[in-house]
Amino acid sequence: MNERIFLSAPHMGGDEIKFIHHAFDENWIAPLGPNVNGFEADIQEYNNIPYAAALSSGTAAIHLALILLGVKNDDVVMASSFTFSATVNPIVYQQAEPVLIDSEKETWNMDPELLEKAIEDYIAKGKKPKAIIFVHLYGMPGKIEEVKAISEKYDIPLIEDAAEALGSKLNGKPLGTFGDFGIYSFNGNKIITTSGGGALVSQKKEWIDKSRFLATQARDAAPYYQHSEIGYNYRMSNIAAGIGRGQMKVLDSWVEKRRANYNFYKKELNSVGFEFLEEPTSSFSNRWLTCVLFNEKLTKKPEDLRQELEKFNIETRPLWKPMHLQPIFKDCMSYRSGVSEELFQKGLCLPSSSSLSDEQKEMVVEKINDFLK
Ligand SMILES: *Cc1c(COP(=O)(O)O)cnc(C)c1O
Repeated sequence: MNERIFLSAPHMGGDEIKFIHHAFDENWIAPLGPNVNGFEADIQEYNNIPYAAALSSGTAAIHLALILLGVKNDDVVMASSFTFSATVNPIVYQQAEPVLIDSEKETWNMDPELLEKAIEDYIAKGKKPKAIIFVHLYGMPGKIEEVKAISEKYDIPLIEDAAEALGSKLNGKPLGTFGDFGIYSFNGNKIITTSGGGALVSQKKEWIDKSRFLATQARDAAPYYQHSEIGYNYRMSNIAAGIGRGQMKVLDSWVEKRRANYNFYKKELNSVGFEFLEEPTSSFSNRWLTCVLFNEKLTKKPEDLRQELEKFNIETRPLWKPMHLQPIFKDCMSYRSGVSEELFQKGLCLPSSSSLSDEQKEMVVEKINDFLK
């Protein structure tokens, strides 16, 4: 049997181990140290944003953003429905109420019109939302400028979940830098990884300083351990940050490799009955995962193909199951367009690692052609 072809595998550039060795040599084996500071500086520079905090996960970054915005029990937070559960879970950690907003067709991300309708409804009910969490799924820039305008019009802070979108841009501006907060994830399956980790970014120094304070157990300035607030253990370790420093050096070339995967699949599979998500003009997607939609002519379903490819040790995955269809969020209010449900039914994510070889890509295409033609 061939080596397993993963959906999205970690891909080291080579320098990561040098930063880890440095941490060992200097005995910086802790959730602070030169790699943490260096990685934060790398993120700031890459995204052209003044402040970044390196954290234990993207989920922790979203949670801290909500805490910093004062989200608490019975508050309402608007969030993209078409996403991974980690976007929405932190709203519930704060005992607040998620309101789930469906997608538009062009980018598959939150529909600004539905968002505005939801905001108007909740304001009319006397429950002005406390925050908006907007996701750029699969690295594709969503309609963030429209949503930013809505956030300003109604004075509701905007958190940009760019967990899958590091390296993507809209009008040349990096995703994650449009909102009041941006978050990134460095989980093992993301475009770059620190094995597990995340970052919170902002234009506001006070917020990022406060996020570091909260992420290290909220210790007051005293010689003994004194606490005036509830803290969290959410900081990134100096070892993980060392991996991150090495990964930042290869980020742009990994983006190019993922974009090349997309272009290859699109060229080779255009005739089998797939539709591809096009990049709108002025958008630059990191193409974290290449997703295809099965058109009506195809008799085989995405799940049939997934099972077939599994026989050849090729991993594929359905698109994200919308949050309004999740058992745990079934009682949440949602504003639906039908778009995300249709995407969930018709879509499949193809192997998209930056480390995919030409032979592996050719094999994926060959097996898909054999099965569908
Ligand atoms: C991965 C991911 C997260 C969470 O990041 P972790 O680092 O795994 O906690 C949040 N939102 C989206 C859209 C993600 O894909």
